[in-house]
Amino acid sequence: MSVFSFDAFDNHEQVTFCNDPETGLKAIIAVHSTKRGPAAGGCRFWNYASDDDALRDVLRLSRGMSYKNAMAGLNLGGGKSVIIGDSATQKTPELLRSFGRFINTLGGKYITAEDVGINVEDMEIVHTQTQFVAGLNEGEAGSGDPSPFTAHGVFAGIKASVKHRFDRDDLNGMNIAVQGLGHVGYYLCKELHEAGANLVVTDVNQQSIDRVVTEFGATAVAVDAIYDQDVDLYAPCALGATINDNTIDRIRAKVIAGAANNQLITDEFGQKLVDRGILYAPDYVINAGGIMNVANEVAGDKVTTEQGMKDVEVIYDKLIQVFRGADERGLPTHQVADEIALALINQGTHNAAVAAE
Ligand code: NAD
Repeated sequence: MSVFSFDAFDNHEQVTFCNDPETGLKAIIAVHSTKRGPAAGGCRFWNYASDDDALRDVLRLSRGMSYKNAMAGLNLGGGKSVIIGDSATQKTPELLRSFGRFINTLGGKYITAEDVGINVEDMEIVHTQTQFVAGLNEGEAGSGDPSPFTAHGVFAGIKASVKHRFDRDDLNGMNIAVQGLGHVGYYLCKELHEAGANLVVTDVNQQSIDRVVTEFGATAVAVDAIYDQDVDLYAPCALGATINDNTIDRIRAKVIAGAANNQLITDEFGQKLVDRGILYAPDYVINAGGIMNVANEVAGDKVTTEQGMKDVEVIYDKLIQVFRGADERGLPTHQVADEIALALINQGTHNAAVAAE
């Protein structure tokens, strides 16, 4: 494996390989950019099929965090970490403490938080070894679970998308398909239901389905049937890469706006959505609500839940800016978002506060 010429390398500033035979820790910490501030992004605990898969995942996710944090106007760079292994059997306090010591050696260049396979309790253990951790419950500025903020940002983004595509200010009576009813999907369904939308939902977990059917009167469909629904909007809130060769021609929604990361399997699907007349809300723009709230914690600011929720509504305006830019220039929305984000990264910290206004 050659790191510098690896397909997903994309000019990363630093990649750190962590190996501790005593605890079994094998981890990679990727710092894509610190131009706007310390690189912030969660830690994923995943049983990768190969070291190459782990490296590719951490590099892609880390780059994505640079774009997401810049677009959200945060004084944060982009980074991510992965721990290689089965979180159900290999996650021990000793291993997490060892990971914390590696984070600490970077001296604050990278700030970690929860991602798939890592919860708040795990981060509390990492925090015993390093201060460079966010997403904690405790402490003066602890911001806790980011999911309700992510969901509220997605809700604001859905309203922006509906405004742009249908010229409507409300969601009353709109038919919305939600795929994935976990942390974000559940809170999103709650807000959509309260706004008068009709929900069509799916998940691989029956309990999660039952909850939204009972609480929000949602209609459940089979996992693969979600793409075929005659709905106005499709909100992917489960896995990435759901916009692919198998699904593109089946999607009947006129808008795709949801929380999942890396929704387009490859960038060319952004143009394919344009060709099909589907408006796409770029994933890292619409799903930035959680990191926006975590950023308060990193800055040491204690923000009320009410204020944190209000703050993420800025996603509405950011998406409208992207949609208008795409219309004016005849480009796919993801391409316009990438250009804006890259310009913000290259401006660096000096202008970050201005960009946030
Ligand atoms: P989660 O693990 O709590 O929920 C994911 C849900 O999707 C689970 O209920 C799972 O059963 C379901 N699922 C898995 N495979 C499925 C399939 N094939 N079809 C339908 N459902 C399936 O995760 P989450 O925190 O709710 O995050 C959801 C998505 O949003 C992820 O892609 C995540 O990367 C992204 N995201 C989350 C946050 C956050 O604050 N939690 C922030 C930004 C982006």
